[in-house]
Amino acid sequence: MPEDSGDKTLRQRMMTLLKAEECGVRDISQALHISEKEVADHLTHIRRSLAAGPQSLEIRPAECLACGFVFKDRRRFSRPGRCPRCRQTRISMPRYYIC
Ligand SMILES: [Zn+2]
Repeated sequence: MPEDSGDKTLRQRMMTLLKAEECGVRDISQALHISEKEVADHLTHIRRSLAAGPQSLEIRPAECLACGFVFKDRRRFSRPGRCPRCRQTRISMPRYYIC
């Protein structure tokens, strides 16, 4: 994927948001006026680029609002559709932060 300067600036703004508070994909997409798909792509890059340094992209996993099941193993940047334990679809968005 080619990187232009606009892309880098966007990613820096995203990192600033993530350092300030926990953000869901939708929060970031609304704050930066980009699609949720683009947010997911940038998050992947941010996680990779932070891996070498002292900080990292942390994930507060999605959680079933009905039974409290936590989607701990989920690494994709999207919301699970359905709880494997109780089959409910009321699931909180995973949230991301840098620390
Ligand atoms: Zn559940």
